[in-house]
Amino acid sequence: MRGALGGPRVLLRRLREVMAEPVSAQERLDKIVVLIAANMVAEVCSVYVLRVDGTLELYATEGLNRQAVHLTVMRSDEGLVGLVATEASPINLSDAQAHPAFSYRPETGEEIYRSFLGVPILRAGNTLGVLVVQNRARRTYSEEEVEALQTTAMVLAEMIASGELTSLAQPGAEPAVRRPVHVSGAALTDAIALGHVVLHEPRVVITNFIADDVQKELRRLGVAIETLRAELDLMLESGEVAEGGEHRDVLEAYRMFAHDRGWVHKLEEAVLTGLTAEAAVERVQSDTRARMLRQTDPYLRERLHDFDDLAHRLQRQLLGYDHAPARDKLPEHAIIVARSMGPAALLDYDRNRLRGLIIEEGGPNSHVAIVARALGIAAVGEVPNATGLVDPGDGIIVDGVTGDVHVRPTPDMEAAYVERVRLRARRQLQYLSLRDRPSVTKDGQPITLMINAGLPVDLPHIAETGAAGIGLFRTELQFMVAAQFPRTSEQLALYRNVLDAAGGKPVVFRTLDIGGDKVLPYMRNYEEENPALGWRAIRLGLDRPGLLRSQVRAMLRAASGRELRIMFPMVAMVSEFDEAKGLVERELTHLRRHGHRLPERVEVGTMLEVPSLLFQLDELLERTDFLSVGSNDLLQFMFAADRGNARVANRFDPLSVPVLRVFRLIVERANAHGKSVTLCGELASKPIGALALIAVGFRAFSVLPSAVGPVKAMLLDLDAGKVERLVASLMALPLGSASVRDKLTAFAEAEGLTL
Ligand code: PEP
Ligand code: MG
Repeated sequence: MRGALGGPRVLLRRLREVMAEPVSAQERLDKIVVLIAANMVAEVCSVYVLRVDGTLELYATEGLNRQAVHLTVMRSDEGLVGLVATEASPINLSDAQAHPAFSYRPETGEEIYRSFLGVPILRAGNTLGVLVVQNRARRTYSEEEVEALQTTAMVLAEMIASGELTSLAQPGAEPAVRRPVHVSGAALTDAIALGHVVLHEPRVVITNFIADDVQKELRRLGVAIETLRAELDLMLESGEVAEGGEHRDVLEAYRMFAHDRGWVHKLEEAVLTGLTAEAAVERVQSDTRARMLRQTDPYLRERLHDFDDLAHRLQRQLLGYDHAPARDKLPEHAIIVARSMGPAALLDYDRNRLRGLIIEEGGPNSHVAIVARALGIAAVGEVPNATGLVDPGDGIIVDGVTGDVHVRPTPDMEAAYVERVRLRARRQLQYLSLRDRPSVTKDGQPITLMINAGLPVDLPHIAETGAAGIGLFRTELQFMVAAQFPRTSEQLALYRNVLDAAGGKPVVFRTLDIGGDKVLPYMRNYEEENPALGWRAIRLGLDRPGLLRSQVRAMLRAASGRELRIMFPMVAMVSEFDEAKGLVERELTHLRRHGHRLPERVEVGTMLEVPSLLFQLDELLERTDFLSVGSNDLLQFMFAADRGNARVANRFDPLSVPVLRVFRLIVERANAHGKSVTLCGELASKPIGALALIAVGFRAFSVLPSAVGPVKAMLLDLDAGKVERLVASLMALPLGSASVRDKLTAFAEAEGLTL
């Protein structure tokens, strides 16, 4: 490096000595700035630390007025230092005072310095402070000098992150690395948890930043990169798919990056500044993260994950790290923070200690969200950079109801949440006390409340809630959480367990509802323009009868000597129902012929989720034993509004006259045919939804296990006749504002119902 005394390697070596000295934090910082200034032949070297309040405080300086240390505090949008912090990238100027962002602080005496080089102090892509050198003369700092200063900043980042500087701070103005952070994402479950961070993929901990022998580090890096490339080749050749549903194209992308000359070159450059190979990977990755986190292009941001992964793999190569998190040694109240996660990985954690999940990827319909709901843990998804915001052991609050996440919460925030959790627990106790009360309205109308389920973890909910049975067993969940196609024997075992757990209460097994958004990672996926309207559910089942047949056979055998209810999803035409029912009958004949003991009775029904069935109701009801309305899909198709798209989610109100007309029609026709009808979509899981449905004649629901309590509490106090009359009168009015939500809310309030 031109103009430097001894170059960056000497600087790093000296820094290591200073880091090891038994001196106070302030003395150490003071020594560091002197060292850097001398090494870079700069007249000034200063360290600014980002504080919890978002301002930047001068923590140490060589060259500026020392009296200004801990007194000079700037907003993070102020001056060149602020610019370095917000942009998270170096600023290198030969005439700083000519820069529009230059701001002059008289107490520091910096007016005489013209050239300025500031680099962010970064950790995991987050800015913790700014490191600056200045010279009186105009000069442009060389690329190598910028590199060297960034490397030095890395050592400072570790010092800040270790908490060593906290003792120097005023209360409320601590270094920002420990500051409370509030972020929001997608609310995935109806639960709230307070706990401590456990990283799903623990960060590699680097203890040795500074190289003893640079050539040796270059060799280590070279070998690790070669091994990494070979490993990726092997994975691609063997077609291995890693946990979490990594697909082939992701591995292809990794391989491309691993061969990227630019990336390898940057790593080598970082080693040449005097870092160990693993610290060099960290440095380059932190820069990449900082740059990419500021990208608005979702495609590029997505690539960040690939780069992150690759860097992690390389670090593990270098340190021989066993990557698997200690799932059986989970601390109490563990909140898992993950970038992405498959459902099986979540099930691997010790359930007694697991309280919550925060995930960067994964919306409400993701498989991991489904499992989180079944486990009853608090979960928030779609939180950008979640893994970069936390450190293992940090206190954290996950609000799965609102989608809020509070990292390192303030005592006030924590107290508020403790209170919320306590209130919810009290409410749960009240619901529990209703468990054994008959589910009958105040005016004597019995309402059947069943639960939706799909995984073994759901089964205890039948007894816990006192539900009348399982109104919808989503068999696809077993397929979605598995790493490969469940064998017929595994299906049989699950269905048998389910029937055992139900202990004679009815269970409605729905045949596979895959396709659309429910993809199986191990099954060939056909690109479809409109997957929700595509080759899915019963369509796939009828076109590939082998799959449907083996599932039906497993159900029939599981229910030998007992009652069985089978239901088909996404039926659009009566003829599809006929075909599917024919398949069940053929299977029954087959089992009978082979001497198997048959179920005592088999009922065959269908979901009503496709609007075309509304115009075949009589024909359908003549054939089917029961109907179950899937309001999630029925509403999405009625309004042509994607059920998973937040932009259109609130556009149409399900509690509106056109929807209620449809529901009333369904109930009327089912009653006329003497067939039972249930509603198993999410609408019934909200007390106000259930209220509206009771008003148009529904008397059976299948709801989320957590909804049994609230819905039951509502209906026990309800005069069903009264709400029927109210809604009938609203529906008789000319169609103006079609929503009846306000009127129902007012009714509930007047009647003392809790919604
Ligand atoms: C529905 O569509 O309402 C339903 C219950 O099925 P799923 O949510 O599994 O599509
Ligand atoms: Mg559906």
